[in-house]
Amino acid sequence: MSMLELRQVSKVYGHGAAEVRALRDVSLEVAPGTMLAVMGPSGSGKSTLLTIAGSLEEPSSGQVLVANQDLAVMSRNDKARLRRQLVGYVFQDFNLLPGLTAAENVSLPLELDGVRARKAREAGLRALDGLGLADRASNYPDQLSGGERQRVAIARAVVGDRQLLLADEPSGALDSGNAETVMRMIHAACRQGVAAVVVTHDAQLASWADRVVFIRDGRIVDQTAPAAGPESLLAQER
Ligand code: ADP
Repeated sequence: MSMLELRQVSKVYGHGAAEVRALRDVSLEVAPGTMLAVMGPSGSGKSTLLTIAGSLEEPSSGQVLVANQDLAVMSRNDKARLRRQLVGYVFQDFNLLPGLTAAENVSLPLELDGVRARKAREAGLRALDGLGLADRASNYPDQLSGGERQRVAIARAVVGDRQLLLADEPSGALDSGNAETVMRMIHAACRQGVAAVVVTHDAQLASWADRVVFIRDGRIVDQTAPAAGPESLLAQER
């Protein structure tokens, strides 16, 4: 069973002389509980891959399955529900709402999905707790460090049993210590069953993933299972 499956997915933007082939015959699978890192130069198709995986855009050809459901045969409403209930996004610039506390930011997706305020708040607090942020729940974003803000964004992405986490350079705006923490948190979410696709430029950060794919000119050119992530390297040093 896979949480995300792309079968021969291609994406073409524009036409004629302005045609851009952003993805070419990309096939990949991400199982529950695993983290896939996507690396590649700027313009290689990484963001396109994430937006298509998250059903925010349709492929020009090929199939996308989320939780074994073929997006092509779903209505717009069903896709919107699937996005709300199963898919969480984390962006480089966090996108937290400044007028809401950490807890309110995290529970917002559930409230928007019709969950009662109290239940949504409880789930939000659990998600924050899981990311080591229980004592920051009442803080507003401007009272949090960059690393904490990004962890709140991760909590918001996994709140209420979301099972597919899509992250576009989630550590891009952070210093190396905080970037490492963010990858560790995504890794921890995966240990609890979440499937994650994480775009990163940084090979050291990519080594947190169970698998790394390299993409160039819209094509997957290499797949590597890192022999040893940072945790096992640290274990060897001891
Ligand atoms: P990356 O995330 O690796 O930097 P993108 O997926 O953003 O790459 O872009 C892949 C290619 O598709 C680039 O050539 C980009 O210019 C093009 N592209 C992305 N989005 C659009 C769009 N909405 N319209 C036209 N071209 C696009």
